[in-house]
Amino acid sequence: MPLNIHFSAADHVWDDYNVVLPQALEKAGVHAHLSRDHAPATVDYIVFAPNPALTDFAPFTRCKAVLSLWAGVETIVTNDTLTQPLARLVDPGLTQGMVEWVVGHTLRHHLGMDTHIFGQDGVWRDHVPPLAGDRPVTVLGLGALGAACGQALASLSFPVTGWSRGAKTIEGITCLHGSAGLEQALTNAEILILLLPLTPLTRNLINAERLAHLAKGAFVINPGRGPLIDDTALLAALETGQIAHATLDVFRQEPLPAGNPYWTHPKVTVTPHIASETRPASAAKVIAQNIARVEAGQPLKNLVNRSRGY
Ligand code: NAP
Repeated sequence: MPLNIHFSAADHVWDDYNVVLPQALEKAGVHAHLSRDHAPATVDYIVFAPNPALTDFAPFTRCKAVLSLWAGVETIVTNDTLTQPLARLVDPGLTQGMVEWVVGHTLRHHLGMDTHIFGQDGVWRDHVPPLAGDRPVTVLGLGALGAACGQALASLSFPVTGWSRGAKTIEGITCLHGSAGLEQALTNAEILILLLPLTPLTRNLINAERLAHLAKGAFVINPGRGPLIDDTALLAALETGQIAHATLDVFRQEPLPAGNPYWTHPKVTVTPHIASETRPASAAKVIAQNIARVEAGQPLKNLVNRSRGY
């Protein structure tokens, strides 16, 4: 009997996954029927991204695991009807996309590219940026994405400090952890990159006091989640020049409403939650391999810790 795999995500991604996921499942040796219309009680696995069609997981009584198409699971972990194990997405395509976005925006600020791109006014501005080795970067969150971004920046010679919940050793990164490590991680950083999940402990983590620890004129780059930052504190720090520029990919409300001050702020760059999009071909392989593991009696990979919220 084939496994019944229920697909529940935004309509527009179905056409892609309906091609690549059956292929990946077959390649992983999983005999399965992928559909958006399985009766809940007959479902073995759910492949999921938040969407209005599925908010109640209780009727999926036979389901062995829910596999998220997203790395960020803050809206799913708070769903009380979800009692099945939940795997977040850790995918080489997602990681590579984030590394490219973070390195690109870091280099933009480090090199002061805007001066020349927007400043072709006949004035010969011969300001020379410091070398990367003289530009301390801090990455908050040393998971799949933060560690990869930190290592990519370290490979360009940036001195990278990273911060996580538990102690870590990552080549090329000065690793700090816990509440005691946060102030040290922020102090004198010139570029701050946020790659934390949104949990009760990380909400509004970047407040006025913590922004003040950064070097004067620091850059903030947030591809993590909008509520990691206290927006009022960030706007105030941009006003005083404590923060020179913020590049924000994620927001409390998405899409960012037309009247939000970030849209028109001269020191803010808004990108529309595109830092790293899940790539179907790459994600399908990861999901198929994780289902194959469970079917072979091995533990589900990238299991979300419900009490931690990520
Ligand atoms: P991950 O592997 O779960 O890593 C999370 C990291 O944050 C871990 O290092 C964890 O510490 C640390 N952390 C969590 N809570 C903490 C706390 N209270 N104090 C200190 N450190 C804490 O997550 P990921 O896959 O790297 O993804 C990170 C986030 O990126 C996602 O949750 C999502 O919000 C965001 N994201 C955004 C996009 C986009 O396009 N903008 C795309 C994908 C993901 P430990 O290592 O000690 O557990």
